[in-house]
Amino acid sequence: MKTVWGEFVLLAVVVTLATTALALWFFKPYGEAVMLRAVGFTVAVAVASALPYLAYLALRVSSLYADNDGLMRAALTDRLTGVLNRQGFDRKFRSHLRLLLGESDKGLMLLIVDADHFKKINDRLGHPVGDIALKKIAATLKKLTRESDAVGRLGGEEFVISLPCSNADQGEMVAERLREAINRLHVGSHTKGAQLSVSIGGVFMRSPQPFARVYEAADANLYKAKEGGRNRCTITAITAQGNGRLRGGDGLRTAAAVPLAR
Ligand code: GH3
Ligand code: MG
Ligand code: MG
Repeated sequence: MKTVWGEFVLLAVVVTLATTALALWFFKPYGEAVMLRAVGFTVAVAVASALPYLAYLALRVSSLYADNDGLMRAALTDRLTGVLNRQGFDRKFRSHLRLLLGESDKGLMLLIVDADHFKKINDRLGHPVGDIALKKIAATLKKLTRESDAVGRLGGEEFVISLPCSNADQGEMVAERLREAINRLHVGSHTKGAQLSVSIGGVFMRSPQPFARVYEAADANLYKAKEGGRNRCTITAITAQGNGRLRGGDGLRTAAAVPLAR
């Protein structure tokens, strides 16, 4: 943007100087008075003609800006559900990680939300109904999280949420609220429909961790939630040293288990 305006000003100055030099050269033989009037006229015309160009440029640039915003949003959004796609989620997750730097009282929860028995829903009710279910799940996730949280769909029937929160309990409460709300959703008709449910695997961290590591730990928790009977949340904490159990029952059992700082 700055470049466009800079180029425009430069062009206007060059044109004004060139026409002034031409006027000086052309009207010199007609005497000083005529020459000065001619130069004044040339400068006035050059400056005045720049104004409509300026207005046109401002209009074009603002519409290009709007187009660019739209393209950027589309590039970061999942087409089916309207939540973030992988690239969009990755951007926001990295910005959430930066919030953790130097702030000991801040934390971040990553949740993987996976629809239960989704293949059966598709098989029984059809793919279009499956798509409606995904849209309903996405809408619920968006509705029950804050604008500053990140909700994304990494593919298939799996969503991810990055949730800045001050402690693990807070994040776990959100996860439980999401699970319950989705479990109240139905798709299809009264005679041939299905109640939806999701399993949620999550990890809470207080210091920035690579996405791959956090995702792997959350995915392991998701697997636990599925194994435990589905329609449930399994949340643990992760630190630079290893994974820690959040609750006595659920969670990762690793040698480097650390107590959760609350
Ligand atoms: P689990 O409870 O273990 O997660 O079982 P599941 O059936 O949900 O998991 P599985 O991975 O076996 O099947 C996922 C299904 O999700 C299979 C695929 O057809 C469906 N799916 C993936 N993407 C889409 C989509 O965009 N639209 C629809 N309708 N279905 C999708
Ligand atoms: Mg599934
Ligand atoms: Mg899945």
